[in-house]
Amino acid sequence: MNRQIAIIELDADDQVDDGAAHAITGCTTIYAPAGQAGEYAPLATNPYRGCGHGCAYCYVPKVLRMPRAEFDAGAVDRPGYLQKLRNDAKRYKAAGNRGQVMLSFTSDPYHPGDTSATRSTLEVLRDHGLGFCTLSKGGTRALRDLDLFRPERDAYAATLTSLDDAFSLKWERGAALPADRIEALRRFHDAGIFTWVSLEPTIDVEASLAIVRATHEFVDLFKIGRVNYLPMTRTTDWQSYTHRMIEQCQRLGVATYIKQDLQAYLPEGYVNPLRVPQHH
Ligand code: SF4
Repeated sequence: MNRQIAIIELDADDQVDDGAAHAITGCTTIYAPAGQAGEYAPLATNPYRGCGHGCAYCYVPKVLRMPRAEFDAGAVDRPGYLQKLRNDAKRYKAAGNRGQVMLSFTSDPYHPGDTSATRSTLEVLRDHGLGFCTLSKGGTRALRDLDLFRPERDAYAATLTSLDDAFSLKWERGAALPADRIEALRRFHDAGIFTWVSLEPTIDVEASLAIVRATHEFVDLFKIGRVNYLPMTRTTDWQSYTHRMIEQCQRLGVATYIKQDLQAYLPEGYVNPLRVPQHH
C-alpha cells in the first residue's frame, strides 16, 4: 500500500469516529490506525513483515526500525499472526462490531511472495462478520481472492502514481505495472465490488490527474494526497494541484477524499467527508 503515512501504530487501541468500526481495547491485531493512516481506514490488520515491491518512497522500514535491505527482500508472515487474528476477530464478533478492516499498512497484501496469509486473513474476517478492504500494488494477483469479496461489505483499492511503465519501474520497481493494477480495478468493479484508488504519493501532478481521467469509469472513490520527504514536496504547487484535481473530479462526477496534507488548500465551503462507505 501507500507508505506516505506518518504514523503507523501496530498496537493501537485508539478509538475512531466511525460508528460501529471502533477498535476494541486490548485487540492488537485488528486495530485503529493512528495519525494520517487513520484517514485510510478505521480498522486495519497487518499479516506480514517486509514487502517485495521495493518502492523508493516507502518508509515503513524506518517506522518499523527494520533494515531496508531486509524489508525489501520480501514479505514474511508475522509469527502467530493468524491465531492472534482469530482471537481478536472473536472479540469483535462478540461485541457486534462489523467494521471494515484494511490490509495493510506495513506491507502489501498481494506482494510478490507467498500471499496465502492474505486469503486466510480475509476468510477469518468474513467468518467473524467483519468487512475488509485490500489496498495493493499487486494488480491482478488479487484476482485469486475475488470470490471472497462481497459487494455489500468489502472493497478493493489500488495505489497508482502514474500510467507510465518507466515511471512505475523507477519508483515501484517490484510492483505490478500500472496497466495490471488498472485491470484488477476493472475486474473487481465488474464483479460489483466497491473500488477506490489512492493517489498518494503524488509524485507528478500531471500523472495523478491523468490517472483519474483514465480510471474514473470503474473507480468509486479517489483518495488524494501529496508526497512527503522528497524534493517535489517543496517544489510542487499543492494549492494549484488541489484545485485542479477538485475541478476535474467534479467535472467527471467522481467522489474524492482530500487528505489532511492538502486540506489547507480546499476551496471555502468544500465538503470533504472522511468516511465514505466503502461498499455498495
Ligand atoms: S507496496 Fe510495499 S514497498 Fe511499496 S510502499 Fe507499500 S509497503 Fe512499501
